[in-house]
Amino acid sequence: MMHRTASIEPQRLLVFQALLVFTVAGGLLFAALNISRGVYPLAAVELVLAAVSGWLFVRSIQRKLTRTWLMVYLVLFFSAMMAAIATPDASPTVFVWVFLIPLVSHLLLGSRRGLLMSLLFLAIAAGTYFHRLGPDALLLEPVAIANVVVCAVLLTGLSYAYESAREKTESQLQALASTDPLTGLPNRSMLEPALQRQVGEADRRESPFAVLSMDLDHFKTINDQRGHEAGDRALLAFADLLRQRLRSSDLPCRWGGEEFQVLLSNTDPDGAFRIAEEIRSTLEHTPVELDDGVVSMTVSIGVASYPLDADDAASLLIVADRRLYQAKLRGRNQVVDARSMPG
Ligand code: GH3
Ligand code: MG
Ligand code: MG
Repeated sequence: MMHRTASIEPQRLLVFQALLVFTVAGGLLFAALNISRGVYPLAAVELVLAAVSGWLFVRSIQRKLTRTWLMVYLVLFFSAMMAAIATPDASPTVFVWVFLIPLVSHLLLGSRRGLLMSLLFLAIAAGTYFHRLGPDALLLEPVAIANVVVCAVLLTGLSYAYESAREKTESQLQALASTDPLTGLPNRSMLEPALQRQVGEADRRESPFAVLSMDLDHFKTINDQRGHEAGDRALLAFADLLRQRLRSSDLPCRWGGEEFQVLLSNTDPDGAFRIAEEIRSTLEHTPVELDDGVVSMTVSIGVASYPLDADDAASLLIVADRRLYQAKLRGRNQVVDARSMPG
């Protein structure tokens, strides 16, 4: 499993920075107002919030903020809000700030954490509302309570719905961007991060892995003789063969055109050669059925193993590619690995 980086997504960082600027200005303004009214404890809370926000803003410009800081900031911001609504001398209209909670939480924390954070602070706010306004009969009338509760529930529901729809669209777009539309295999944008992860894992667990670089032989001839559509069908058939032969922990990907790469996790050099040889031989003996007959294909494969052949991901791909080139030179339809081409 890849560990999610703790850095803040660009769109969230912008929202965060806007809020920080706002809380610095707002904190100072309200602190000044409260000092002039003699409400010193609340003014102190607002000054602390303004100071922390200013400091966070500077760090955000230096790109030094992690997601943990979003959480810290929100807890602080909402706690200041709770302090304000709990202060007996504060105006009752200070409660309108509570409606910011669901919106800000979802924008900054995403749907799930946002919802949890909203529910937590809305519950605290509700408790404070009844506690503080107990004697104020007008604000405890059913219509008054219904207005506040329905509005808060609606804002929470809408923020949650919007944010989870956005997250879903984002992950669909991500899947689309990393999948090859013809074969349905991952494309090259998936391979590089997966290789990096494998290198890390292989080092930690001292387990080897391998890369197979593949290129279909004389593929241009298939296109020229049978048409481009037949070529497409052949590419899809080869992708299906890879999907059938490989384990779910392996990663086959379409590198481009009629070139493919396979990442074989937990595989030693002998195992990698065996799998490559099996793919090569299966393809050779499995003609692809087309509407107007069959077409036969062969593939050339270069095998590179980690850590035997290279000590980083980029060099590993270069070695595999060099061996693939050798396989072509030696007459195609063959597998070349460290034994057949050392170094
Ligand atoms: P070699 O054995 O040296 O690899 O010969 P080759 O003909 O396979 O190599 P070459 O690079 O000259 O040609 C690759 C061909 O693959 C040319 C291109 O038309 C075809 N091709 C690339 N992508 C696609 C695709 O998406 N669909 C189809 N039908 N053909 C494709
Ligand atoms: Mg090629
Ligand atoms: Mg080719």
